Amino acid sequence: MRIDKLLANIGYGSRKDVKKLLKSGAVKVNETVVKDAKEHVNPDSDIVTVHGETVEYREFIYLMMNKPPGVLSATEDNHQETVIDILEPEDAVFEPFPVGRLDKDTEGLLLLTNDGQLAHQLLSPKKHVPKTYFAVIDGEVTDDDIRAFRNGVTLDDGYETKPGELKILKSGIRSDIELTITEGKFHQVKRMFEAVGKRVVYLQRIRMGSLVLDEELVLGQYRELTDEEISQLK
Ligand code: URA
Repeated sequence: MRIDKLLANIGYGSRKDVKKLLKSGAVKVNETVVKDAKEHVNPDSDIVTVHGETVEYREFIYLMMNKPPGVLSATEDNHQETVIDILEPEDAVFEPFPVGRLDKDTEGLLLLTNDGQLAHQLLSPKKHVPKTYFAVIDGEVTDDDIRAFRNGVTLDDGYETKPGELKILKSGIRSDIELTITEGKFHQVKRMFEAVGKRVVYLQRIRMGSLVLDEELVLGQYRELTDEEISQLK
C-alpha cells in the first residue's frame, strides 16, 4: 500500500496534507526517512513512525450506529445530512459507508464499514441475512397477518415477498410488532403492512444477522463493533 494512502487512512489529513508531512521528513519507515508519497509499505511488517511515534495501521473500521430519524443512510448528499456527516472526523477518514439502507424516518441499527467484502456478504440476496424490525402499526395486527406474512405477501409492484416472521407484542388500535425478513426491498416493511391494509407509523431496526442494536446507544450515537461482534458477522 502507498505510504500516503496509509497515512491518510489513519487520519493524517488529506493526501495533500500527507504529502507535506512526508516532505518535512517526519515520516520514517523502518528507521529510514521516506519523503516519496508513492513509496510502498507493507502495513503488516513495516514499522512506520511519524515524529518518532509508531503509527498503528488498520485497514477496516466497523461501526454500529443507532441511526436517528431525519438523516439519510447515504455517503453524501448535496442538500441533506447523511449518516457519514455525523461521524467524528477520525472515523470518517476511513471512508466507511452504510451497509444497506434505512429510510430517512427509520431509526436503529446501521452498520457502517469500509470492508466491502463483509458488506457484500451481508447484503447478498443469496445469503438471506435476517433483519428484525420493531414497528408501531396504525391498526390491529392479527393472527391473519402472521399467517399472511409467513406465506409471503404481494407488494404494490406485484413482487411476492419471501416468508417473514411476525410477532405481535401488543395488539390494539395501535399495535407493537417485531418483523423478521430476509430481504431488503425498497420500503419493504412499510409495503408489507400496506399489503395487509395497515400503516407503519414508527420503524426501528433492532437486529441484522448476529448483530443486535446496543441499547446503550442513544439516537445518533455509534461505537466500534467488538472483536466478537466482527467475527460473528463474518
Ligand atoms: N423497511 C422499510 O420500509 N423501511 C426501512 O427503512 C427498512 C425496511
